[in-house]
Amino acid sequence: MSTYHPLTEREAIEISLTLKELFPEGAELTSREIGDGNLNLVFHISDPASGRSIIMKQALPYAKVVGESWPLTLDRARIESEALILEGELAPGLVPQVYHYDAELALTVMEDLSNHVIMRQGLMQNNRYPLFAEHISTFLAQTLFFTSDLGMNQQEKKLRARNFTNPELCKITEDLIFDDPYRDADTNSFDEAIRDEAAALWNDGALHLEVALLREKFLTHAQALLHGDLHTGSIFITPQSTKIIDPEFAYYGPMGFDIGAVIANLLLNYTSRDHWNSDAASAHDYRTYLLDSIRELWTKFELKFRTLWTEHGSDRIAKSAPGYIDLYLQRLLQDTIGFAGCKIVRRVVGLAHVADIDKISDSSQREHTQRLALSIGKSLIKLNRRAKSIDELISTVQTAS
Ligand code: ADP
Ligand code: MG
Ligand code: MG
Ligand code: MG
Repeated sequence: MSTYHPLTEREAIEISLTLKELFPEGAELTSREIGDGNLNLVFHISDPASGRSIIMKQALPYAKVVGESWPLTLDRARIESEALILEGELAPGLVPQVYHYDAELALTVMEDLSNHVIMRQGLMQNNRYPLFAEHISTFLAQTLFFTSDLGMNQQEKKLRARNFTNPELCKITEDLIFDDPYRDADTNSFDEAIRDEAAALWNDGALHLEVALLREKFLTHAQALLHGDLHTGSIFITPQSTKIIDPEFAYYGPMGFDIGAVIANLLLNYTSRDHWNSDAASAHDYRTYLLDSIRELWTKFELKFRTLWTEHGSDRIAKSAPGYIDLYLQRLLQDTIGFAGCKIVRRVVGLAHVADIDKISDSSQREHTQRLALSIGKSLIKLNRRAKSIDELISTVQTAS
């Protein structure tokens, strides 16, 4: 069973039974594949008698995209399990516990978080998460600071970066986020109704310049170990608890890419509120809640990052010059805003969309939402290098709305 092959539900159970500490001797396990099957298999394995359960995630050697198969390295399972373990050390309680990793089978066994909901679904169901900004700002500050040259030994950082080069998944990100949406690429996917807006993206030289600069950062700025795919589908949540999953895109890149991903996905949901709320007043309320969460997320992140800098920053780098910390955080905010904009645009015209918008059944409401998202995305990309405060992001969103 140890040579790589995609597992059946029965094999997933057999492997679980060999992991003795997880289930009682002789347990009668059930298994259910719950992944979407595009890149990975996800088995939910449980023992009804003891009430114990686990998740077993196995990487597939290809990605199924628009009916075609792209080969994809299985090494991303190692990257995912190593990133989860590291994130769990740096941000305790904010990722699932990893119980086991099998390199040959590209398999990670982890804590079952089925008592949480995927945040994207939770937002679509009008739930509110009062602790989210607190939790995600801790996750971001801890993982980004302590994997950067500010918070760890520079030579160790270089060696660690070698374990997370992740070239294939970075190439996917590069194409889908920084390339395809800005030209008439075959992989793009958008409603015909907004073709004029898509074509406008292909012909906007000022926008292309900003995207080129952001792409350059994505490719060259090995600032910290990123999660790499931090959308609201990678966040399990309840009002009390937040758990980040699915870091298979982890690599050393610009910090603002992760922070911008979270903000972009809150804003994508923001654009769709007229559909998810039953009336204009509650939609307005929810939009206010989302913008408040974004402001709180950045404000808390900045505060935590500054505290880490002061208390744990390396003398040689972090404390090398007065004013450095302020300029560092200003540039980080600018990157965050630029990457957020890119991540919004790609979810409207690029290959992979978000359910928040795609599930809007009324075509004219969907079109309106997509136009709003593109307007916000483009405005943020054009704002990025000029921004000095998070309030400018908020007011740019409000002006575009
Ligand atoms: P992919 O990389 O294929 O997107 P994910 O890690 O995002 O895989 O998992 C896909 C889905 O499987 C999640 O949306 C969730 O429904 C389920 N899942 C993944 N990890 C867990 C977990 N630890 N506990 C419960 N469900 C999980
Ligand atoms: Mg998936
Ligand atoms: Mg996922
Ligand atoms: Mg994934």
